[in-house]
Amino acid sequence: MSLPSFKLLRPRNVEDALGFLHRYEKEGVQICAGGTDLLPSMKQRLFSPAYVMDIRGIEELTHIRVVPGLGVELGSLVKLSAIEDSGFIATHYPVLREAVMTVASPILRNMGTLGGNLCLDTRCLWYNQSLQWRKSCGYCIKKDGDLCHVAPGGKVCWAVFSGDSAAALLCLHAEIEIASPKGRRRIPLADLYTNIGDDRMRLGKSEILTRIFLPEASAGYSGVYRKLRLRGSIDYPLAGVAVAIRKKGKIIDDARVAITGVNPAPRLVKDATHALIGREMNEHAAMVVGELAARVAKPLTTSLLTPEYRREMIKVFAKQSASRATPSGPSIRD
Ligand SMILES: Cc1cc2nc3c(=O)[nH]c(=O)nc-3n(C[C@H](O)[C@H](O)[C@H](O)COP(=O)(O)OP(=O)(O)OC[C@H]3O[C@@H](n4cnc5c(N)ncnc54)[C@H](O)[C@@H]3O)c2cc1C
Repeated sequence: MSLPSFKLLRPRNVEDALGFLHRYEKEGVQICAGGTDLLPSMKQRLFSPAYVMDIRGIEELTHIRVVPGLGVELGSLVKLSAIEDSGFIATHYPVLREAVMTVASPILRNMGTLGGNLCLDTRCLWYNQSLQWRKSCGYCIKKDGDLCHVAPGGKVCWAVFSGDSAAALLCLHAEIEIASPKGRRRIPLADLYTNIGDDRMRLGKSEILTRIFLPEASAGYSGVYRKLRLRGSIDYPLAGVAVAIRKKGKIIDDARVAITGVNPAPRLVKDATHALIGREMNEHAAMVVGELAARVAKPLTTSLLTPEYRREMIKVFAKQSASRATPSGPSIRD
């Protein structure tokens, strides 16, 4: 499959990038970071933008920076492999490293960026196909059609958010910076997502994700990430669970659980926090976490694995991860 034709834009800084987005907004500009998800999608004609803006030349977005007293700032262009290789992230934010290490393959992690992973398009069995395949089925509500094959008669798209790092970052209460022609704003990562398959993010056409912040208060939580995928060595999550836990002695001081790969957005399992704080981790507590996570999961027939199996695996992974994520690591000041 070949790429459709497009004009290439190559900004050198964020201001240039915003200028391009504004100038060519009507014609359509698609941001390309590592291109590992976008380019295959363009070959399938899921996107045929007039302009592709390759942002890899924006040097200021390529750094991991520790900001004393605040935490860590990651540029949106930080490669997944850089996060994997960072001893600091491994020590203080282990859940993020665990999740990132499961993304695709080493080569793709060396090209793919954290920003691209968070802004990943939602996926569905009826959508991530070639043009001919989709045409033969009368297209779907997410692209070129008006019917949903997953929920026939429905007018809502159920395509699934299938990035790994977002679940870990939700557990870390990460925030993001969005740059627009009006200035920069900082919001919780959770607020980026709409939970609607075909309109997945609250990101305007002339906006760009520039930074991700990990609060210092989230450092030192022990962390586990587990995922279900078709091909063990290289595949998107069909169910993913991240757990971050901080303990004082044997007692759980704080706990966060998030899921991905089963809803149109990654989701925090807020009730799991309330269920665990002030308790000891044991078989019963881990089972409750599993039940609560499965309640938030709403998988439909968007993949080759059945919704029932994927929901069950959310339960299993949440239970296992909660049991595993017990000893807490050092805080940044240690
Ligand atoms: C075979 C294969 C297996 C894969 N397996 C996994 C997997 O297991 N887990 C997983 O999470 N991903 C997987 N991926 C997807 C992808 O490789 C990663 O998610 C990667 O991190 C995407 O980053 P990127 O920089 O390449 O994004 P791109 O492909 O460049 O962009 C992805 C999307 O994000 C938008 N975007 C990128 N950067 C920004 C920004 N700064 N601001 C606003 N929008 C932006 C783009 O416009 C595009 O819509 C897989 C891909 C392939 C081809």
